[in-house]
Formats: sequence, C-alpha cells, structure tokens
Amino acid sequence: MVPIADGHTHSNPVKGLGMEKIAPKFREEGGWFVAIVGLSPWHYGLEATFEGYEKALEITVRECEKARKAGLKASCLFGFHPADVDKFMGRMQPHEVLELGLKVLELVEKGLREGKLDGIGEVGRQHYKTHPISVVIAEKIMDRAFQISKDFDAVVHLHLEQGGKVSVIDIKERIERYGTNSDRIVMHHLRGKTLRYAIEEGVRCTVPGVKGLLENVVSLPPEYIIESDHIDDPKRPGIVVYPWEMARNQKELLENGLVEEDYLYRVNVENVVKVFKVEPPT
Ligand SMILES: [Zn+2]
Repeated sequence: MVPIADGHTHSNPVKGLGMEKIAPKFREEGGWFVAIVGLSPWHYGLEATFEGYEKALEITVRECEKARKAGLKASCLFGFHPADVDKFMGRMQPHEVLELGLKVLELVEKGLREGKLDGIGEVGRQHYKTHPISVVIAEKIMDRAFQISKDFDAVVHLHLEQGGKVSVIDIKERIERYGTNSDRIVMHHLRGKTLRYAIEEGVRCTVPGVKGLLENVVSLPPEYIIESDHIDDPKRPGIVVYPWEMARNQKELLENGLVEEDYLYRVNVENVVKVFKVEPPT
C-alpha cells in the first residue's frame, strides 16, 4: 500500500482527540506524514490575547512532538488566520489588529529560527464577505509570511477565497515579487476551478480528501497533496474528514481501479518530500 500523507490537519488535545489518539489511528491506515497547523488560542480554551497565541504555539509544537513519537514525520506550522482579523476588529483599532498579527508572526519567526516550527499557517485572506480593511490587514500579514518564507525557506499554508484564476495569479505573482521558493507556498483546501488553475500554473496546493471530491480530482495531473483539514472539534466530529478516513478513501479509489498506485505515490510521497523538505518513508 502507498504511504499516506496528510498535507494539512489540526490537533486539539484540550477539547478534541489530540495527536495522542489521532496519530496511532492514522498510522494504522498507512499514514507516514502529517502537517499540523496550529489553531487560534480560543479553540484550546485560551484567551484571545498575544499571550494566548504564545501558549497556542507551544501546544502546537507539543502536538507535533507527539505525532513524531507515534512514528509519523511531522511538519509544524503556526500563523494568524484571516478570520482572526475579524475576531479582533470589533474591539481593537485596525492598526492594532495588524500589529497583533505581525507580532504573532514574529513569534513564528523565532520558532523557525529555533527549529521548533517548520512553517507558517494559516495566513491568507477571508473566504467570506468582510470589511475591506480586514482584507487589507489579512493581506499585509500574508505578505509578511511570504517574506519570512523567503528568509527561512519555510513552508506557508494559505487560506484563501476560492477565486479561480484570479486567486492563483495573485499568489503566483506574490511568489515572484518576494522571490520565495515556489515549492514552499501552498494554497490550501482547493477544489473546482481554483484547483485546476493552481495545477495549470504550477502553484502548490492541497485538496480535501473527501469522498465525492477525490473521485474527480484523480483525473487531474498528480500535482497536489491531499489533506484532511480535520479541525478536531468534538462539536463538529469528522469535519472536514478524519485523517484515517482520508487514507481509507484513497485506498478505496485504488481498489475500485479509479487510480494507479504510481499516481498516489506521487501525491502522497514525492510532492510531500518536495513541499515539506522531509525524508521519504523507508
Ligand atoms: Zn485548516
């Protein structure tokens, strides 16, 4: 069986399952790699303050250590989600929200320097209608992430609108503008037209490994990575998909002859090795 990678997931040891429970189950279904993206402080029951982000980052790092202990390769990411911008907008001045976001990225930069973190995520733009200034703030934080990525050759996971060609062109141009390694910039949770354009334009991306979507996605060139984007929230169980379920979904495609093993190897191993700079499974 092809080793399975989860290109973007979350882990909540406070309210959800946490890696202690997730990692062994994912391993059992052939999991070899996981990219763990930190959640915002309040998801872990922490305060919505800078100190909350500091603690949330530490939780994320510990979850990555747990995944490694369970035998998975792990990439550890932390950022300032575009939805967090809106969370703070009501109670803070726009420039204060921007300052907070950039301060959190400073913390991420420190984590990268110390080797605690491997990348930045999620940053990007809101996928819903919001105040124009919120988008400006989110974009300025994203741009800072591009700069840090360039400095540290760190992976960045982008949460964006599904804007088709425009979203893809925008990211491609930012990669050029900042001179970032294009293998490190990942448009996350893509589907439909945006996914097709990203592949066409050679922009790295992840796709949710859900039934009904994968069947169609495997007709595209194998130039993406599959993710569970599991939010590990007991109030919304199995959203977007459990990592082990994502693995099973791929096995099913193989059994039903909808995809070749070589194709899945490219998606789950070769692309992951390139994007996350990890050693392939032995
Ligand atoms: Zn996510």
